[in-house]
Amino acid sequence: MKQTTSLCPECYGRISATIRVGATVVMDKTCPEHGAFTSMVEHDPRWWLLCQELGCKNVYDGYMIDVTSQCNLKCKYCYHANGGEHRAAAEVIADAIEHRHLGPTILTGGEPTLHPDLPAMVRELAPWNETWVLTNGVKMADEGYFEELCSAGLLHGDIVLAGLSFHKESAGKDLEVLELCRRKGYRIGTTFFVIDSVDELAEAVALAREYQDVIHRFRIKAASNLWAETGAHHKIFISDMILWLNQHGQTSLVESENNKVSYANVIHEGLHLILVSWYDVENVDLKDIDCGPWYTATDGTLNNLATTCIINGGPK
Ligand SMILES: [Zn+2]
Repeated sequence: MKQTTSLCPECYGRISATIRVGATVVMDKTCPEHGAFTSMVEHDPRWWLLCQELGCKNVYDGYMIDVTSQCNLKCKYCYHANGGEHRAAAEVIADAIEHRHLGPTILTGGEPTLHPDLPAMVRELAPWNETWVLTNGVKMADEGYFEELCSAGLLHGDIVLAGLSFHKESAGKDLEVLELCRRKGYRIGTTFFVIDSVDELAEAVALAREYQDVIHRFRIKAASNLWAETGAHHKIFISDMILWLNQHGQTSLVESENNKVSYANVIHEGLHLILVSWYDVENVDLKDIDCGPWYTATDGTLNNLATTCIINGGPK
């Protein structure tokens, strides 16, 4: 049994919750206004219990800033309504500098490369703090633009401080970014591959292997109904991914890295993979994810990533 704080799935108010460990791990909570809710926290109690034992304090450091809500794709893991104005560069810079004690600055959106001042913002911020850009790669695939961002401050040694998300909708531009990296002898900082079913791990692992020379960190994220991702009706938990990986090759946990109920580092057949299955409004354990990355929600509150995405994404 664990007492924690969660959110009411109706009104998003913070309410106390109890986590029970049995054949699975289940959360019970009651909102004074909206009644009682029960939800699954993990399929496999062994994974949940191991995480309690590991007691990791953090997932990863960082402060995320949306520089725009506009996007040139309809991404699977975007909780933004596409559109609106770009955020003023001066405002982004002030926000980033104010919060730099929270870890690297992570510029996101929307699609941050649509902001005409992105290279200027990176140039301004890089001397203050390690600065990252999360992108779908569509604009980054342009060699001139890629080099402009790198020389503005995204290139550290051979690592481009960018998070590249894969989308079928990008018509191969994501892979072109990786080819660019290969040609120039760079590695991309991190990548994001969303899966709707555990069987899609096969495609994710194949991609990670094919580009292992140019990808520093490969993340696999379970689709979430938080972002209305297709096929997310059956939530994929970390233990489900680990089970599949175990059935398809030698897999071990990297205990020296941060591992949590919703986040795991594994070595699968020699590949370092990061598995992510963010909580959603049904099962979020706010005590467990009282850690970075940090992100200011549209209501002005500073929260961990999952909570801000819940606030920004709902109520639906
Ligand atoms: Zn409520």
